[in-house]
Amino acid sequence: MEKGKLIVLSGPSGTGKGTICRELLKTGEMDLSISMTTRQPRTGEKDGVHYYFVSREQFLKTVEEGGLLEHAEIYGNFYGTPRAAVLEKLDKGRDVILEIEMQGAVQVKKSYPDAVLIFILPPSLEVLRGRLTGRGTETEEQISARSSQALSEIHRIYDYDYSIVNDSLRDAVSDVKAIIRAEHLRVGAGSEALVRKYEEEE
Ligand code: 5GP
Repeated sequence: MEKGKLIVLSGPSGTGKGTICRELLKTGEMDLSISMTTRQPRTGEKDGVHYYFVSREQFLKTVEEGGLLEHAEIYGNFYGTPRAAVLEKLDKGRDVILEIEMQGAVQVKKSYPDAVLIFILPPSLEVLRGRLTGRGTETEEQISARSSQALSEIHRIYDYDYSIVNDSLRDAVSDVKAIIRAEHLRVGAGSEALVRKYEEEE
């Protein structure tokens, strides 16, 4: 069976990655990896749905046991991708999306070179700041930290396989779908079975 694709969506905070992910999940054709974090749940966030909310001790123990595919510390909190859940889904042929920040994305590519890294960009830094303010979940101080971080992150675009400017949600979602489709059509290890089929026919 063809393995699923590991799709990593990342980019500066406030670029709309979360919304793109939610739209992609509606297709029912892919699964979202649920991350582990030490940050406090925000209003409405549920354990096991939005994140696995854990203590620092639990998180560090999981890292030590090799239980995370990647992890990073962001604004004083730890975030990481549970390894086993992701690999199991890929083995079953499911495409898995990781919505993670950039340090993590690079780690994933190193340990899983078949991963497809997609960089989501805001139409402009001004739009990005506006989105963060509108979200109402971050303080002024956090918004200004995240906004100045954005430009230095944009310089790291070359670590990625694809980039999408999220100007229109509809277009961005359809671009991600097109990338995933193209990745499934890529000639690679999976092509052996295809070649065999023709050989058997001869
Ligand atoms: P938030 O606290 O707003 O939910 O997330 C902060 C940042 O952490 C976002 O950029 C989000 O994409 C990233 N993030 C969420 N889960 C993970 C993860 O498992 N690993 C890494 N490296 N980043 C994550």
